Amino acid sequence: RASAPKPEEVIQRYMEVLDDVPDEDCIICMDQLSNPSGYETPSSEEGGHSILADTVGKFIKCGHTLHMLCMLAMYNNGTKDGSLQCPSCKAIYGEKTGTQPKGKMEIYSIAQSLPGHPDCGTIQIIYSIPPGIQGPEHPNPGQPYTCRGFPRFCFLPDNDKGRKVLELLKVAWMRRLIFTVGTSSTTGEPDTVVWNGIHHKTEMMSNLSGHGYPDPNYLDNVLSELASQGVTEDCLTP
Ligand code: NAD
Ligand code: ZN
Ligand code: ZN
Repeated sequence: RASAPKPEEVIQRYMEVLDDVPDEDCIICMDQLSNPSGYETPSSEEGGHSILADTVGKFIKCGHTLHMLCMLAMYNNGTKDGSLQCPSCKAIYGEKTGTQPKGKMEIYSIAQSLPGHPDCGTIQIIYSIPPGIQGPEHPNPGQPYTCRGFPRFCFLPDNDKGRKVLELLKVAWMRRLIFTVGTSSTTGEPDTVVWNGIHHKTEMMSNLSGHGYPDPNYLDNVLSELASQGVTEDCLTP
């Protein structure tokens, strides 16, 4: 993270300048693309940037178009990790990282089967995160954060698909995407460590919370949640 590229270079890596401006609106500033971007990004900051307010860019893979200066402003508002997410279709360019605090991910094997997966044993993941002080990437830098319900115990079937999900969860953990610091939607408590949109099964033999087994769609659902954070099979080096 220390060697993050210049914001302007990140934009130019994943967007190409459009000479023929389409008759559409910019999804960020909502103004027409043929009008200049409403963002007056101070160009003196960090040595300045050369993106002009009327430059329109097109994402290299998904093809969505918007003011490059609007995209620069959005990037500068985020974690500035060298990755971009298309605001139209959510396609991810580069390696998206999150704001998960320091902690530990451990993996164990359990012989017992999960409800709905009678033919295999179980993978147990244990996440441990101790309380700490929020960094600049968190909602209230310098303030403490709490950790409720840790260690959190999670379960996957120990079959081919479950093991693939496990490998992708390891990637997501390394990229700090499993948890974040925010307000718990269950308890309303602010400044606490919460799940970050990649669902886990935290009950093994019961389903009192709705986060248990059986759930025939779970592995497919979590694979698509991982993909929406940019974590796919392509991330697994053989
Ligand atoms: P949250 O309430 O902000 O919700 C974020 C996401 O987590 C939502 O998608 C929600 O569906 C999901 N979620 C909510 N409860 C869950 C659960 N029990 N297991 C798995 N996913 C769950 O997130 P949060 O504040 O991090 O967690 C919700 C609550 O669940 C908290 O009060 C936490 O203490 C508790 N919890 C307890 C344990 C435990 O082992 N005792 C484990 C996990 C979560
Ligand atoms: Zn715009
Ligand atoms: Zn797109």
